[in-house]
Amino acid sequence: MATYLIIGNGIAGFSAALRLRKLRKNAEIYIFTKEKYPIYDKRDLPFFISGKVDEDYILLTDLDFYEENNINIIFGTVTFIDTDNYEIRLSDGEYYGYDKLIIASGSKPISKINQKIFQLPTYYLKTMDDAKSIKSALKTANNVVIIGGNQSSFTLAAELVDINKNVSLIIRKGNMTWNLFDDFSKIVISKLFSYLGVNFYPDVEISNVDRKKKSIKLSSGKQIPADIVIIDENFTPNIDFLRKSKIKVGEGIIVDHYFMTNVEDVYAIGDVAEVYDVIYGKNMPHQGWEIAKEQGELVAYNIVEPACEYMGTVTAIGFTIGKYNILAAGLTTGTDDKYEIFTYKNLGKMIYKKFIFDGEYLVGGIMITKEQSVDENKLSLIRVISRKMIMEPWKDDILRDDLSFYEIYTYFEKNIED
Ligand SMILES: Cc1cc2nc3c(=O)[nH]c(=O)nc-3n(C[C@H](O)[C@H](O)[C@H](O)COP(=O)(O)OP(=O)(O)OC[C@H]3O[C@@H](n4cnc5c(N)ncnc54)[C@H](O)[C@@H]3O)c2cc1C
Repeated sequence: MATYLIIGNGIAGFSAALRLRKLRKNAEIYIFTKEKYPIYDKRDLPFFISGKVDEDYILLTDLDFYEENNINIIFGTVTFIDTDNYEIRLSDGEYYGYDKLIIASGSKPISKINQKIFQLPTYYLKTMDDAKSIKSALKTANNVVIIGGNQSSFTLAAELVDINKNVSLIIRKGNMTWNLFDDFSKIVISKLFSYLGVNFYPDVEISNVDRKKKSIKLSSGKQIPADIVIIDENFTPNIDFLRKSKIKVGEGIIVDHYFMTNVEDVYAIGDVAEVYDVIYGKNMPHQGWEIAKEQGELVAYNIVEPACEYMGTVTAIGFTIGKYNILAAGLTTGTDDKYEIFTYKNLGKMIYKKFIFDGEYLVGGIMITKEQSVDENKLSLIRVISRKMIMEPWKDDILRDDLSFYEIYTYFEKNIED
């Protein structure tokens, strides 16, 4: 009977465990986490902070679910992997042996920010415990500064305005996800936030902090009030515990198209892995709930059955502001003549669509629409781009209001299966 160990109880590790259980009824499955919760949905943490949903809503399962599925959940921190002896070690000195090991240890916040910011009460937003600390701080704080650029920062800003906080959202220069948006989409998003009542400061730096006056000075000269600061801008793969192992790391764990590391029987998925990016043409870390979930399911197949190749992915962002769905993925700016670009702009209605083609392949897109839901379209758009699907049948209709990437991808999948 094979033993599968999974380091990480986030969506990547959890999906791998569930899929492995479906594929191998009798396998021993262990999942390790350094947090104290069953899996929860990180995407909902901003709604938990604003009080729209409670903890039970965010928890995707309870501990009984693990037991019912014969998945052993171990609350402990992995400190070392001995790949020669097929063992992992925990901080309490316990050892666990494996036949196959999946590393899904996710990412952690990192910020190369003006250190003076830490003179103010400062919080990161990554885990349930972070969210609880922020929620508690908000009982007395009115002026909230979010330093962000991720989908979570945008959602949190909208949520905190909704509970009557004075919210300033700062995006520092060079933020990679914010820079998925081109100049026009940045204007539309800025307008949407200002209508909402968020003080929005994109592409700035923090030049000074006044602890006594509780304020932050921006590179533009603007002074903004800050009772608390929430940093939600950059994340880096959680690989510290691998430093002394034989597993090859760059910024994250380097894997091939089957999620295999350089060491036999060791795989990596989710935020911690450096998977192939079809736009940049190299391995790099990617963050995203849906991407991590998909990788968890695929790695399980690769472990127990003939391998299915993962073509790679692209950087993407998706969130909603009021009735507007905002989505960007792949190559969206800085294109040359080789590419064909289709755009529809309406600043009055605040609608924008831009799709970039390389011949018959879609390589990137930006959508600010009321119709196309982020939940339905984000992963499908990523898949259409990264799996190089031939878009000829849809190219002429690409700007149509009712065009759905979910439907396009479903059509492709059905035809591939047929
Ligand atoms: C507030 C917030 C909102 C987000 N919103 C969105 C969104 O709207 N859309 C979207 O696509 N993405 C969103 N994301 C990103 C998305 O949640 C992540 O990309 C995804 O959760 C990554 O899953 P993962 O399983 O790879 O890693 P993680 O969820 O980070 O899980 C890592 C796991 O590894 C465990 N672990 C780490 N190190 C060790 C160790 N040494 N020993 C034992 N266990 C260890 C941790 O305890 C945890 O269980 C959001 C993220 C946050 C924080």
